[in-house]
Order: sequence, then structure tokens, then C-alpha cells
Amino acid sequence: LVSRKKKPEDTVIEINGEKFGDGDPHFIFGPCSVESYDQVAEVAKAVKEQGFHLIRGGAFKPRTSPYDFQGLGFEGLEILKQISNEYGLSVVSEIVNPAHIEEAADYIDVIQIGARNMQNFELLKAAGETNKPVLLKRGMSATISDFINAAEYINSKGNGDIILCERGIRTYEKATRNTLDITAVPILKQETHLPVMVDVTHSTGRRDLLLPAAKAALAIGADGVMAEVHPDPAVALSDSAQQMDIPTFHQFMENLRK
Ligand code: PEP
Ligand code: MN
Repeated sequence: LVSRKKKPEDTVIEINGEKFGDGDPHFIFGPCSVESYDQVAEVAKAVKEQGFHLIRGGAFKPRTSPYDFQGLGFEGLEILKQISNEYGLSVVSEIVNPAHIEEAADYIDVIQIGARNMQNFELLKAAGETNKPVLLKRGMSATISDFINAAEYINSKGNGDIILCERGIRTYEKATRNTLDITAVPILKQETHLPVMVDVTHSTGRRDLLLPAAKAALAIGADGVMAEVHPDPAVALSDSAQQMDIPTFHQFMENLRK
């Protein structure tokens, strides 16, 4: 269903006026984790100032260690819903439990399925049974073929509104958190008709590489870029090393627009 051979024309997914897959770049920014109303509101203000229409933020955080901040759960989704109502932004947030999909659909506009759950087939099927767009991230050890099959699971249940997101893969290289597989973008665009984004935050894990990685993503044909923005990254409850603060975010966009 997701194959370009079956449907030669690009799938365009409209979310709050942004048409992912229409040939123009689209952007999703927001904090790694939802920590408080004020924290998300500060980012929402900056996102609006830049003229964007979506915000991200994790309420259910799939952390490597069980002792790290696990997210605010539904309380976090409540905050996101309030932000969405007040700022007119659509909300992208990760869901990790198939049993939460239906209820989460009342709070969020785009269901994110994270790298660690890319092959959680029950979760993929549950997301496929909704009418919400799904942002599907590539598993850190997934081949491109695995990734496309994961999208197929969602589409097989009737939901074809899927945005693929390259977020780096595990390799032997230690200079970056993951290795951004930049050529996955044109390959995914050749093999599927779905929009393809690049998450420059989790792929690089380095603030100094966000801008060059975003330039590379757009140059190679990505339909958009995702990155994390936090009012005070030094005290962030997750991904403190790589989120942009708000002035850096504005600078990032200024440079990228050039
Ligand atoms: C995220 O985007 O919040 C996230 C956890 O990323 P990934 O699933 O790509 O690691
Ligand atoms: Mn993060």
C-alpha cells in the first residue's frame, strides 16, 4: 500500500494548513518532554513567531533507564491540549501503549511512534485503526525495508496518513549519538509515496550539528525537519545536551531560511 509502484503520485498530508509532501519543507519543533505548562507555552510562542503550525512534546517517554524521567503521561497530554487550544498549534506526541491510542486521539493531532516501538506491531495496528496522521520514526536498528514494512502495518489497517521520519541508526561511530542515514531520504521517497522527514536532534545528539544536518536533509529532498527546543536545555528532564534554547532556535531558522 505504501509502495510508489502502487501509487506513483506523492501522498500529501495536511495538518493545520501545513501540507506535508507538497514539495515545500515543513517543520516540527518542541521540547523533548512535556515538563510543565509554562515550559511548553514558551516554546509554543517561539514556534508561532516563526510561523509554524505544529508543536511536539513527549508525555510518554521511552527512556533507556527506568530511573530516568518517564514523562507526565496523560497529565502531559492535557497540557498539550491546552497549548493547542490557546496557540492554535497542532500537537505531535508519542504514544507507547496500544491501549492508550484511542484515548490519546482526544488530546493530540498526530500520533508519534518512536524508534523503540517501530516494530511494536500491536501499536502500529492500533494507530492504523485511527484517523489521525502518524509520524513513524525509524527504529535505531531497522533497515529501510523494516521501516517500510512498519508503515505498511499502519496502512494495512486503513490509515494511510503516515509521515516517515529518519532519526539516525546505530553504528560503530561514537562521534554522534546515532548515524544520520541521509540517503534513506531519497530511497524512502523512491520506494514509497509518503512524506519523509529528518529528526536532526536524535540523529546527531549534538547541538552544533543541528543546522548542517537540517541543511543536508532539505538539500537531499526531505519534506521536513524535526528538532527539539526547550526554554532552558541545561535543566531539561531529558535530552539536555542537544535541545536548542529559544534564541538558538530563532538563529537556526534564520540560517536555514538563508
Ligand atoms: C522523540 O522524538 O521524542 C524520541 C524519543 O525519539 P526517537 O524515538 O527517535 O528516539
Ligand atoms: Mn528527545
